Amino acid sequence: MNYEYRQLIGGTWTDASNAGRWDVLNPATEEIVRTVPFGNGDDCRQAIEAAAAAFPSWSQKTAYERATLLKKASDLIRDRSAHLAHTTVLESGKPLLQAKGEWVVAADLFEWFAEEAKRAYGRWVPSRNVAKRQLVIHQPIGVVGLITAWNFPAYNIARAASAALASGCTVVIRPSEYTPLTAMEMVNILLEVGIDNGAVNLINGDPASMGQEMLHNEKCAKIHFTGSQRVGKLLMDGASRTVKRLSLELGGNAPVLIFPGVDLDQVAAGAIAAKFRNSGQVCIAPQRFLVHKAVAREFVDRVTIAASQLRLGDGLLPETNVGPLINSRQRNRVEQLVCESREQGAQVTLGGKRPDSQPRGYFYEPTVVTQVQPAMPLFENEIFGPVLTVSSFDRADDAIELANRTRYGLAAYVWTNDLRAAIRTAERLEFGMIGINEWTPQSTEVPFTGWKESGLGKEAGSEGLHEYLETKLISFGGTG
Ligand code: NAD
Repeated sequence: MNYEYRQLIGGTWTDASNAGRWDVLNPATEEIVRTVPFGNGDDCRQAIEAAAAAFPSWSQKTAYERATLLKKASDLIRDRSAHLAHTTVLESGKPLLQAKGEWVVAADLFEWFAEEAKRAYGRWVPSRNVAKRQLVIHQPIGVVGLITAWNFPAYNIARAASAALASGCTVVIRPSEYTPLTAMEMVNILLEVGIDNGAVNLINGDPASMGQEMLHNEKCAKIHFTGSQRVGKLLMDGASRTVKRLSLELGGNAPVLIFPGVDLDQVAAGAIAAKFRNSGQVCIAPQRFLVHKAVAREFVDRVTIAASQLRLGDGLLPETNVGPLINSRQRNRVEQLVCESREQGAQVTLGGKRPDSQPRGYFYEPTVVTQVQPAMPLFENEIFGPVLTVSSFDRADDAIELANRTRYGLAAYVWTNDLRAAIRTAERLEFGMIGINEWTPQSTEVPFTGWKESGLGKEAGSEGLHEYLETKLISFGGTG
């Protein structure tokens, strides 16, 4: 393995056209991990040109030929997951076991879409006119620009790139500038298995000018974006000028409805694992725990004790189960949300500050906050940090109303032993993914999708493939 940590444009490793450089920092130590190219819209334009030049031959390969290459990539990722995860920990700070798991899912995605693209079936539709025959087919959309977030630096890219490449699209990957190394390792593997030069391109650099280039360049047919609502809305504004296709995977503010009668020890243990995974920097992280009054006190006691036993530290240390936040800006945001909610009456039962034990790195203590009310910042905003909030409710209808009182609509969780309540609650929640008595509703083979302002489009599952395909009707006349 001799990986390159540069931009990849048209099969050639390049530095930035403006010679810009960027220091990738380890969020656990604030030390430089590596310095990489940091370009701008010019690099993006070159990458789009290369992807457009590669499109005719890549899209004309059969789905079986593309699948062979993508399957090889998934095998290599599995073989090298230890090395790959190590790189991801260095730049993201997440615990090693979580980084390994993320790469395994990335491998699953390449394998899944390699297979799924073989089933991009069209159909003959019976005509109402005897002299006509009607055929509906699906064709790759063209060059896709991928702009992704740092929280899952391998998964976020794999989820879109695997589907796009399998369907016959070519891609320009623009990872978060905080985690470009993971992306660079991924494209090294794609190049190594023999994917056409130019089918996969990677650029790193100025987000705004690269985003603008993707928006305005006619050769870029679609943008896939994973990130904040703020930037998602900017892209949507820009896309309106060219009717650019968009997939937007934006933030979440997941409610967790806990009804009486459940095994509180089990729910609290699972809640801690789900909430503090990746230091809470997960779009589907359980955030607003809405707990029935009869069990709220007991639940708070249990999660406070369990969260106090979490070990904060460098993700490479085997004992660590919570790492740092990605950068100081993210930590400041979390601090501010906790501080303002506290001023409005929320009670902190654990944490609520930077740890004295970690003077370096962007750490924030695992935190539990109770008596959180709907108007408080911790209820209204996506926290994206290691903060578990608890509010209580009396009637199921109130819990559902509280749960839906958000502009987000990504994931929601329900814990109950009552089948009728489970079904009726799930049906009334305005969210794209509902976990009933479980914390991981998302999986490679099912759609990942947000309602309301959590996004547009679907990833993974069979639906994920169709985000990268256009539908075409071919109508034959004179066949009567
Ligand atoms: P962000 O919006 O700040 O950045 C996301 C990406 O956009 C980064 O690569 C960034 O460099 C780039 N970017 C920033 N400004 C841009 C601009 N003007 N034009 C084009 N690109 C620009 O978000 P973030 O802080 O990196 O990520 C956290 C957010 O991502 C959270 O809201 C989280 O919920 C969301 N997220 C969603 C999903 C999902 O599948 N729904 C998955 C992971 C993360």
